[in-house]
Amino acid sequence: MKKKPKYIFLDRDGVINVDAGNGYVDNWKKFRFLPGSLKALRLLRENGYKVVVVSNQAGVAKGFYSLKDLHEMTQRIKRAVEGHGGKLSAVYYCPHRREDHCSCRKPRTSLFRQAKKRFGMRFRETILVGDSMVDVAAGKALRCKTILVLSGREKLSRRSAWKVKPDGVQKNLLEAVRWILQRGHRSKP
Ligand SMILES: [Mg+2]
Ligand SMILES: [Zn+2]
Repeated sequence: MKKKPKYIFLDRDGVINVDAGNGYVDNWKKFRFLPGSLKALRLLRENGYKVVVVSNQAGVAKGFYSLKDLHEMTQRIKRAVEGHGGKLSAVYYCPHRREDHCSCRKPRTSLFRQAKKRFGMRFRETILVGDSMVDVAAGKALRCKTILVLSGREKLSRRSAWKVKPDGVQKNLLEAVRWILQRGHRSKP
C-alpha cells in the first residue's frame, strides 16, 4: 500500500533563504540559501514529506520585480533544491501589498486553502514553519502546528511582545526538521 504523503508548509524568506533585510530578494543574484536549509529540504523528501511554500512577495505590487521575474527565480530555486536531493512540491505567492486588502497575503489564508484543494492535506496534521509572527498567525488560524525559526525576522528577546505564540521555536529550518523527524509530525512541538 502506498503511504499517504505528509505535508509541511514553509515560508520562503528567512526560512529557506536569507531575508534581504529590506524585505526584497528581487533577483537570483541576491538569493542565498540559509545554512542547512538545502539539507533540511533533502531530509524532508527522504522522509516522505511534501513541501509547500507560501510566501508574501509585496515587491511585485511595489514594482521592485515582476511576476515573471519571480517565477523565473522560483524555477532556479526549485532546480537548486532538486540538485541537492530535495523538492518543492508547490510554491504559492501573494504579490500584493497590505493596502490591497487581498485574501492571500499572510496572515490571511487563501493560498493555504488553494494548496489544500490541490493536495488534500489536513491542516491539523500539517506543520507550518515561518520566521515571522505573520506566518505563525496564519498557521494558528488554520490550526496547523507552528514552528517559529530564528533565522529571519524574529528574535527570542521579543518573545513577551508576541501576540500569537508558536507551538515551538527552533534555530533554523534544519533544526526544525530534525525536531519533526525525531518526534513525529503529529506530536505537539
Ligand atoms: Mg519570512
Ligand atoms: Zn495577496
